[in-house]
Amino acid sequence: MERDVKKLISQMTLEEKASLCSGLDNWRTKPIERLGIPSIRMSDGPHGLRREPDTPEEAKLGPSVPSTCFPTAVTTASSWDKKLIEEMGRALARECQANGVDIILGPAINIKRSPLCGRNFEYLSEDPYLSTQMATAYIKGVQGEGVGTSLKHFAANNQEHRRMTVDEIIDERTLREIYLANFEGAVKDGKPWTVMCSYNSVNGDLASENKYLLRDVLKNDWGFEGFVVSDWGAVNDRVKGLIAGLDLEMPTSFGNRDKLIVEAVKSGKLDEKILDDTVERILNIVFKAIDSRKPGATYDKDAHHKLARKIASESMVLLKNDDKILPLKKEGKIAIIGAFAKQPRYQGGGSSHVNPTKIDNALEEIQKIVQDNAEILYADGYKMDSEEIDQSLIQKAVEISKSSNVVVIFAGLPEHYESEGYDRKHMSLPDAHNQLIQEITKVQPNVVVVLSNGSPVEMPWVDSVKGILESYLGGQASGGAVADILFGVVNPSGKLAETFPKKLSDNPSYLNFPGEGDRVEYREGIFVGYRYYDKKQMEPLFPFGYGLSYTTFEYSNMWVSKREMNDDETVEVRVKVKNTGNVKGKEVVQLYVRDCESTVNRPEKELKGFEKVELEPGEEKIVSFILDKRAFAYYNVELKDWHVESGEFEILVGKSSRDIVLREKVIVNSTVQLKKRFHRNSYIGDIVDDPKGYQIVMDLIEKMRQSGKISENDEKALKDIFQGWLRYQPIRAVVNFGGGYMTEEMLDNILRTLNEGIE
Ligand code: BGC
Repeated sequence: MERDVKKLISQMTLEEKASLCSGLDNWRTKPIERLGIPSIRMSDGPHGLRREPDTPEEAKLGPSVPSTCFPTAVTTASSWDKKLIEEMGRALARECQANGVDIILGPAINIKRSPLCGRNFEYLSEDPYLSTQMATAYIKGVQGEGVGTSLKHFAANNQEHRRMTVDEIIDERTLREIYLANFEGAVKDGKPWTVMCSYNSVNGDLASENKYLLRDVLKNDWGFEGFVVSDWGAVNDRVKGLIAGLDLEMPTSFGNRDKLIVEAVKSGKLDEKILDDTVERILNIVFKAIDSRKPGATYDKDAHHKLARKIASESMVLLKNDDKILPLKKEGKIAIIGAFAKQPRYQGGGSSHVNPTKIDNALEEIQKIVQDNAEILYADGYKMDSEEIDQSLIQKAVEISKSSNVVVIFAGLPEHYESEGYDRKHMSLPDAHNQLIQEITKVQPNVVVVLSNGSPVEMPWVDSVKGILESYLGGQASGGAVADILFGVVNPSGKLAETFPKKLSDNPSYLNFPGEGDRVEYREGIFVGYRYYDKKQMEPLFPFGYGLSYTTFEYSNMWVSKREMNDDETVEVRVKVKNTGNVKGKEVVQLYVRDCESTVNRPEKELKGFEKVELEPGEEKIVSFILDKRAFAYYNVELKDWHVESGEFEILVGKSSRDIVLREKVIVNSTVQLKKRFHRNSYIGDIVDDPKGYQIVMDLIEKMRQSGKISENDEKALKDIFQGWLRYQPIRAVVNFGGGYMTEEMLDNILRTLNEGIE
């Protein structure tokens, strides 16, 4: 319906406008009945709906109305399947529509800087490109069904420790390339209705009052048109926040902070135009939500459960499969060990905690698949949600394992290890789990470990087991999904969206996580995740992008549409992928770009494209990627823009970040002339690297030659100009060493000519 929002605003009193800037209660915006302005409702997210009960009847059903608990973000990111995530988004939106929810609070996309962050399970990846692509798919899925999203937590909420205040000190290039780039694509391409600011500070200002983040970058630079909502309780100085670009405060402040807004306008501290812009942004979304509602909508619970199972099985990552121990045969005696097989760990703690419509357990699902063809034995092995080693439980498990043909151990992190609000202290599994696995491998050579955890763990037993399936936190149907993979009903196709380091101290943030007091410095800079392990040539336990399949794939015929291009052009890259095994499978073709030579410190390679393809045995398909400037660029803090340094780049195509199988080179030429201001202390080497500077220095040398000021020795020294000693002499030194040819006045003139046209 067409509405004139500006006219509506002109009819509002100052108090009414201010009132719209904070919530009615925990979840809803305020209505203004006099003007026909309705209220809309938000609920968590991200991997399922957590809608608090409205009625006593609903309250009987649990802390929130039952809804499908889809796999958590760490899991879905490992699918590398944009279409699948979009489908999940559509399903989430249907559940929102059926429950009267207008905006779901997700996706959550903060970068996994440390494996210890308590909310890593809710986040997608250590890589901004993968994060932004998957987030965009989620947003398109949800919003395509007429429900809004809230892209969160903007920005740099990469730890839970002291999250309400901690100041994240991040240099500008790192911010842009890592901690903002994950949001950038999702904002520009996904166009989320709302963005949620984080609790923490970034470089001195709380995110809820950070003008650089909210107004300069998000709204002005990226053109975000929706409204910014505070994380729940993130508001500190309401007026400063409003000026910085924070539109809606949640939850309600019981009118307290609305008054501050009114006073600030009256005293002239706040320009009413800023308030009007905020109100306009909020109203645009309120009306969009109202117009998109589907009264009477329902959803099919069983279909959503099935979808949750499918997504989980396409996301879990097969990390090890020696002797092709998987898929398991439906024969003999199969021991299933571990309490998680009966009571799955399938989601994390905090605001994303969903009350599921039902829960699959792996033991039952395995039994359903195997039927009477094999004998299934079971032992707990450890106590649920406890770290304590119980020798009698281990002993029982060992006995069963001895007498079986194969053992599947369900291990992982107990629920209290991973939650919103705090971080892990270490990267280990509970001793009870590690010891169980170690004892069983002493009596049984055929061991498969199924891990349930929301973030990497150390695996001291990695060499003693034949199979490892990382099931992550796979949602309410994870039990079924694990069973499907174990028995080959589904061929695993997940790839890690994060690196598993061998030990915590290998992680680049190790020395600076979680910081000191209220301050954490991101001293590793852009070298996060594989960007660091690659550069350090450090062997991870399992690399970014890695994951096995029950079939094999061969890559060939890499083709690039051009060998040389300007940075305002695009290049197409094609590669042929063939399924060379005996079963159908899906492969994630990954494309990375490497800058062969650069004056700035750049990663060894960066992910710039990926595509998941399904192939029948023997089938081949061509996968195509289009690369534009951004694929080759770094963020130049002087230009305040993305910049390509002219030169050679390698395009790498592979099965993981550490398994590159094809590579081609292209030359990319920058269309932007970097204008550098030179001064007395500029090095001669830097001046001659500039085309204009080169000419000026050459003219100077020629004139000195003609005037006989250059001796034979000097001639030799001149050869050094491009690499040796002379390169690192400041131009002012010519006054001393130029045989008296150059005067201070001449130096000034040279600098003036060099800097002509530069402000
Ligand atoms: C969390 C958000 C969540 C909000 C509402 C906050 O504590 O950080 O992710 O959406 O609460 O529950």
